[in-house]
Amino acid sequence: MADIIRLLPDHVANQIAAGEVVQRPASVVKELLENAIDAGATVIKLIVKDGGRTLVQVVDNGLGMSETDARLSFERHATSKISSAQDLFNLHTKGFRGEALASIAAIAHVDMQTRTELQELATHIKIEGSKVVSQEVVTAPKGTSIAVKNLFFNIPARRNFLKSNQVELRHITDEFHRVALAHPNIEFHFYNNGSEIFNLPKAKHRQRISHIFGSRMENRLVPVSEQTEVVNISGFICKPEFAKKSRGEQFFFANHRFIKSPYLHHAVTAAFEGLIKSEMYPGYFLYLEVDPASIDINIHPTKTEVKFDDENTLYAILRSTIKHSLGQFNVAPALDFEHDPNLDTPYSFKEKGAVLPQVTVDPTFNPFLERGKGTGAVSYGNQRVYQKTSSQGWEGLYEGLERDVYDDAFSSLTIESDGGGQEAMNLDDGETVQGATTFQLKRKYVVSTVMSGMLVIHQNRAHERVLFEKFLGEITVKQGVSQQLLFPLELTFSKQELGILMEIRESLTNIGFAFDSLEAETVKVTGMPILVPESGIGTVLDRLIADYKEGFEGGSSSQAEILAKVLAKNLAVRTGDLLDQESQMALVNNLFACKEPGFSPFNKLTYTIISEGDINKKFI
Ligand code: ADP
Ligand code: MG
Repeated sequence: MADIIRLLPDHVANQIAAGEVVQRPASVVKELLENAIDAGATVIKLIVKDGGRTLVQVVDNGLGMSETDARLSFERHATSKISSAQDLFNLHTKGFRGEALASIAAIAHVDMQTRTELQELATHIKIEGSKVVSQEVVTAPKGTSIAVKNLFFNIPARRNFLKSNQVELRHITDEFHRVALAHPNIEFHFYNNGSEIFNLPKAKHRQRISHIFGSRMENRLVPVSEQTEVVNISGFICKPEFAKKSRGEQFFFANHRFIKSPYLHHAVTAAFEGLIKSEMYPGYFLYLEVDPASIDINIHPTKTEVKFDDENTLYAILRSTIKHSLGQFNVAPALDFEHDPNLDTPYSFKEKGAVLPQVTVDPTFNPFLERGKGTGAVSYGNQRVYQKTSSQGWEGLYEGLERDVYDDAFSSLTIESDGGGQEAMNLDDGETVQGATTFQLKRKYVVSTVMSGMLVIHQNRAHERVLFEKFLGEITVKQGVSQQLLFPLELTFSKQELGILMEIRESLTNIGFAFDSLEAETVKVTGMPILVPESGIGTVLDRLIADYKEGFEGGSSSQAEILAKVLAKNLAVRTGDLLDQESQMALVNNLFACKEPGFSPFNKLTYTIISEGDINKKFI
């Protein structure tokens, strides 16, 4: 038999290699951005059209290439970054395989202009499917511009395999985020279909994170820092209350390279144990620096998976460092009090300490303030936003109870508390309890008397019920009262989040939110429900989006119900909150004006009655 083995022509070999290197436009983005960084650029522009199918272009102000290098750079295994196998153990660059440009040029139309500092004129090369179609001398600034057009033009199967432009753009944005987060000292610009979607000035890590994910990120980050012989760790973790229901902002970088490491991810999750629910994901931006010799980035073609020499030690260090940060920044103890699953809210407004000082809080504002007693209307602030729907439950409880009996019962309690039961009568200074009919126990329960005995209300759950019915009513009846913002709040959302916002926009408007437009990633909030504190609006919207996305634990609730639940959960008073006399009374009244006062929107008991008989038994 004749010899049948042949060496594949280069362009075929390149096309095969391209299958590994270039899966989609985002892969091109990654390779080009990394090359620009390796070339020492300080300003990098990424230009994308039609989700990258028509154009991916990266312009940098780095070293540039000589004419010969420009030509050579498209050859397979042509690299300036390593020259021997030994170099593989001391990598300080992103690239080293010398296959990216060759692969890309095999499956697209590539247009490159490049000039070094020393050259006067730049080299302009055009390559289509590995063939050089033109090479000329042009004037161009120092640095390199590589435009990759019509990706997969010669592999229709691959081209058809691409997803919608929006999906491809999302992949590109993910890659862009990873690179930009790893290099905050480089200025980045990202243009999509002609408009600039990211403008990231040179910054510190923390600023870079908030430039990318929105300024709401600022208050959520807890710094992490540890120097050891094995590894230096720096970066940030997100406070546990901002944990998300979907994997979102989780980034590991090893030696300025984005990496994926399920094992190290586990170390982070382990550090958060007990602070967040198991189905929640903590956010983190962690930068590891290790000896390049102790890390193998060569094990995966797209190079996001790496192998560390001493993973176990790394795991232990990482876990304890994060635990330490959580403790040091007082994040952990705040969640330490008696465990009540209903309190497992992902965040609380107790974070006010970290809020910018220009937020003005009306000290007299009392969400329970009841005005127009007896008319059935309850006021929040100055505006009437809550209408009693029924008073049946409430009256039922009091049936047969004479007013004076009720008062008597309470005044005896008053005396009791004056005699040392201070803890239970945790009222504001100077507040008189004379004639009051409720008191707060352990800042957790509101206690009152009813015909059959003692009424104990769980303040958090009860308020959730009250708010839930209020918001549910507003969404359906469209009577939410909006508070116009003097200075519209700008919040940044991801494309996906924007999509959800659009979906629930009408309901949000009904309860008092006002947006100027939902087209751009930065949304201007011009109004909001009066119950939402200005400082918490970003967080509330985040929770709304995340919970709405999850369909609230996969239940089959309606949109209105989900939104009302999220709002109620996030805005209700919590265990530990001090309630003044009026608030306590209003809570009692409002609870029993609810259609279903007995249970929180999450099906937890809101109140119980300890009967006189039960009490009598204690005195036998
Ligand atoms: P690698 O990055 O693995 O070396 P590439 O195919 O990505 O392989 O690039 C080949 C070579 O082309 C690089 O080693 C580098 O010398 C040169 N090169 C590529 N992009 C740039 C750029 N933006 N600026 C300067 N040189 C570049
Ligand atoms: Mg490269």
